[in-house]
Amino acid sequence: MKTKLPLLSLIAAATLTACSSTNNALYFERTQLQQDISYLASDDLKGRKSFSKEIDVAADYIVERFTSIGLQPMPGTQSFKQQFNLHSVTPKSVSVALDGQPIAAERVATVSQSAGFSWQQTHDLVITHISADADLREQLRKLNQKGGNHLVLIDKAHEEAFSRYQNYFNNGLTKLELKDQGAMVLVLGYEGEVKGLEVKVANEVKTQQLTNVVGVLPGKRKDTDMVLFSAHYDHLGESKGEQGDHKQEESEEQDTIYNGANDNASGTGAMLNLAQHYAHLGDNERTLMFAAFTAEEMGLIGSKHFAKTQNPDAIAAMINIEMIGKPSAFGSGNLWMTGADKSDLQALLNQSLPQEDHIQANPYPKLNLFYRSDNASLARLGVPAHSFSSTDMANNDHYHTPKDELANLDFESIYKSVTLLVMASEPLVSAKATPSRVAPLKDDAEGKIY
Ligand SMILES: [Zn+2]
Repeated sequence: MKTKLPLLSLIAAATLTACSSTNNALYFERTQLQQDISYLASDDLKGRKSFSKEIDVAADYIVERFTSIGLQPMPGTQSFKQQFNLHSVTPKSVSVALDGQPIAAERVATVSQSAGFSWQQTHDLVITHISADADLREQLRKLNQKGGNHLVLIDKAHEEAFSRYQNYFNNGLTKLELKDQGAMVLVLGYEGEVKGLEVKVANEVKTQQLTNVVGVLPGKRKDTDMVLFSAHYDHLGESKGEQGDHKQEESEEQDTIYNGANDNASGTGAMLNLAQHYAHLGDNERTLMFAAFTAEEMGLIGSKHFAKTQNPDAIAAMINIEMIGKPSAFGSGNLWMTGADKSDLQALLNQSLPQEDHIQANPYPKLNLFYRSDNASLARLGVPAHSFSSTDMANNDHYHTPKDELANLDFESIYKSVTLLVMASEPLVSAKATPSRVAPLKDDAEGKIY
């Protein structure tokens, strides 16, 4: 991999004349790209589930690649690994009696970020009745934002919605930081005024470690002006092999590994090889940051943590790569991006691409994808942060199944997608262009209790 020979691909050669970029050489190798993706998607890594030992092996692999590429750790850190804690709070034992009458567990749901709580008196609680015609979701949202201790008596008419909250709370909260700002006890179908009560709740609080992998390629300019290339490297792990699997033909050998080849070994491989390309090129004006995020599948957790460690104003753009393992509806290797209307990045990137390879706006607007991937963690802070994919979401039966595996990837298409990303990103990397900022979100979505 020491060769400095530009590996001018057929694609780049074909588009040479149409492309306004001054340097069309590609300094990454098709075989390396294929090797990175194949390794991350292999059965050995058992679907790279967060907290598994295999995701740590994947992280080590990314560290090794960053090292051989010659990236540096983020300023002020010694390691490519950005390690952090994730806390979970799960109800362990719950007993509730109202006016001397024990309430069956099926009618109770509790939530708080503490190790537990007990209430014997009503005077320091807020008691709220939610009638049959009230908006349960909206009422709970308001109480959640207020914080404090709440007993919520819910009319039987809301039984279905109640059991959804019960499920959600019983599965446990996961938080980057625990803040005990109150508790909520929901009781379904209790008639009458509550004068006395006896509530005892014990929660199990667990803390586990997660790892993002982040490397930097310093630019000629200051590191207050950076471009971030990213992809999540976690996936869903293995299925336990129950339920739906019975439907399978008995002759068919049961595949329980969710390899996440498209989602998102493909994006991670692309990110690694973009790093390879720019490191060999060695003339980036802007500082480039490369991030492999963990726990995207658990709710964008790795990127949320990463965002907290960054000054968003220092990030000129974020190119998040998601599922480029299959040809798009626009043609092999062609890309679409989320949130094209939220900044002018699309037009800026397309300047360097031939017309037939232009990056398209997300053709699946109903899926609300802009806020469903890691780009959202930085976009909500104002960064022009977008996700780029090739996957035809309308025909994507392998999505989140064991069939998202190597055999179903199209490496021709992947290679072209990475090539297009290199070409499109040229004005960003050379600091010839700066996209407009995304309107930041006010963070009132986050409640105090859960
Ligand atoms: Zn996924």
